[in-house]
Amino acid sequence: MRLTLRTSFLLLGLAWLPLALRAQLLAGGEDAALACRQARLSQAARSAATTGASVRHRLKMDRYDVKWYKLDLALENNSRALAGSALLLVRVGAQPLDSLAFELYQAPVGAAPSAATLTIDSVVVGGQRSPGVLRRGQEATAALAQPAPAGSQLAARIYYHGTAPNGNTSAIGNAFNTATSYRRAGVDYPYNVTWSLSEPFSAHEWFPCKQVLTDKADSSAVSVTTTLPNKVGSNGVLRRTVPLPGNKVRYEWSSRHPIAYYLISVAVAPYVEYTTAASLPDGSRVPVVNYVYDQASLAYYQGGIDQTGRLLGNFSQLVDNYHFADEKYGHSMAPIGGGMEHQTMTTLQDFGFTLVAHELFHQWFGDNVTCASWHDIWLNEAFASYGEYLSMQAFDTPTNVRAWMDDAQARARLEPAGTVYVPDTTNVSRIFSYNLTYKKGAAVVHLLRYLCHDDVRFFRVLRTYQRQYGNSTARTADLQRLFETELGQSLDYFFAQWYRGNGYPIFNVRWNQVGNALFLQVNEGVTNGATPAFFQTEVDYQLTFQDGNTRSVRLSQAQASQGFSVPVSGTVAAVAVDPAGWLPDQPGTVQRDNALVLAAPAASVPALSFFPNPARSQLTIADLPASATAEIIDATGRVVGRQPVLAARPQVATQALAPGLYLLRLFSAEGAVVGQGRFTKE
Ligand SMILES: [Zn+2]
Repeated sequence: MRLTLRTSFLLLGLAWLPLALRAQLLAGGEDAALACRQARLSQAARSAATTGASVRHRLKMDRYDVKWYKLDLALENNSRALAGSALLLVRVGAQPLDSLAFELYQAPVGAAPSAATLTIDSVVVGGQRSPGVLRRGQEATAALAQPAPAGSQLAARIYYHGTAPNGNTSAIGNAFNTATSYRRAGVDYPYNVTWSLSEPFSAHEWFPCKQVLTDKADSSAVSVTTTLPNKVGSNGVLRRTVPLPGNKVRYEWSSRHPIAYYLISVAVAPYVEYTTAASLPDGSRVPVVNYVYDQASLAYYQGGIDQTGRLLGNFSQLVDNYHFADEKYGHSMAPIGGGMEHQTMTTLQDFGFTLVAHELFHQWFGDNVTCASWHDIWLNEAFASYGEYLSMQAFDTPTNVRAWMDDAQARARLEPAGTVYVPDTTNVSRIFSYNLTYKKGAAVVHLLRYLCHDDVRFFRVLRTYQRQYGNSTARTADLQRLFETELGQSLDYFFAQWYRGNGYPIFNVRWNQVGNALFLQVNEGVTNGATPAFFQTEVDYQLTFQDGNTRSVRLSQAQASQGFSVPVSGTVAAVAVDPAGWLPDQPGTVQRDNALVLAAPAASVPALSFFPNPARSQLTIADLPASATAEIIDATGRVVGRQPVLAARPQVATQALAPGLYLLRLFSAEGAVVGQGRFTKE
């Protein structure tokens, strides 16, 4: 999901930003609008009446597994009135079931008689009418005429009608909404459109459901009866449209892919349909079905819509084939204030390049693999945001690509006290914190890519993640484990720093050159209140020589104050920290210090004794007191390998190294350097 605000709010919303950044954001146009969604979200969250069912009710819902949602509703494009039924096909768990618990919105006790509410007409389970439905707020429990045996399948049809709530009663989704105009190029045009937006927990405001992320339905179907010339956009494939008396039509959509409750959607309006096709790397073609407001909008947005195909191809190439290729991808337009990644049918307000890319990448990160908890929402949003960056890398200029990441990192630094991890999952504005969940999250994905040293490895992890957790849900620990497997090292320190931790490192560098030795003394500070107080990371340094040549060295910052000696030929004129902008560090100082001479590289670190040297396939470390992590650094200062070394078996594999001179450095579990020494690989 990516939401924006109108321009009038935008300027107010930006007032708190530093001037330079404000100018940069305003110049950025589309992205700029996102700055102020915070304000709106906070307001929405304050007034949100619903954040999910009680623990007790959830336990009741967890006694079954949802297999299928089949909605059959009457909807119009000018009203939030709803009528129809929802079929929930469920599998009963290990205990027999005497009642079926689910969620459906109900007006608060004492609300005006005219208040929006959804009334249950009847619940029919296994062909028998429920003897009674108990309702408490959004929690509904239908008694079963006969207990359902453990492990059995149960079909429950819930007939209901009413008006979906809106505004104050909803979370940011305004789960069900209707509008009488849309805006294009700053002009409002009269137009009636009704749409859903259920994330994070507003699906119950328009259909009976179980709002538990980890229980995806195996498949879904949405049928909607409406008045012509309305069309209805939804998930999966349009199986058929059925003409009905009285100028009505029924759209019948269904999908055979697992789906999270909040990704089921509808959009109803007198759309024009514009369908293209995307080619995937495996040679298959996917229809891209677009429900656009009208011909004028189609003419205006066609260029933007037509980008979808190559974006789909690029993501499929980089990560994994589009998972829903056997059905479709598509867009339904609605004045939604941004976009929402409804599975196979994104709802969006316009076709801006990064908005289309963001919602599309969600089909991998969010839809195919869904975060298992709202604590882990960055698994959806940070990756979708990184999809904007990946798309720009493929199709935009290097300057714009760099500006995107610089902006993301600058926004992350606006929140030195915040974490990517969401501590309070009842707070909608915190879940969707633009600076933390989206931008800091994207900066952390970028750091994972940096840590891999190699895009082949980075994208291999993303592909494995898609294949291992596809059709299902994942937690941050699952992603961590996959990167650890790829890199052969524990990443506890990385996720402690960047996911659970807050704040940013600051690199203050003094440097000097004596003969062919360049000395760097790097003192790492952190922003106020940072946790942890030290960030272990590699840092690239760009050396600019007097003749104008440049060279980059990657050095591993293993302690807060560290000296490096880098062999150079030529005279160094300047040193720059992190020239490619991989790190979200707070800029520090770089000074030449003619008095700086480092006797030997980090003389305080104990010398390791190991054999044989020169080495062939492995080195054995003598007197290793405790298990450690070994880092191998080549003659240019680049880290070329990392591996755990066990005290019980103190060996370092060197087989894969090219012949040459290397530095071996050992780190304790706490990240301190406990020894180092040079060796030659034959
Ligand atoms: Zn998103």
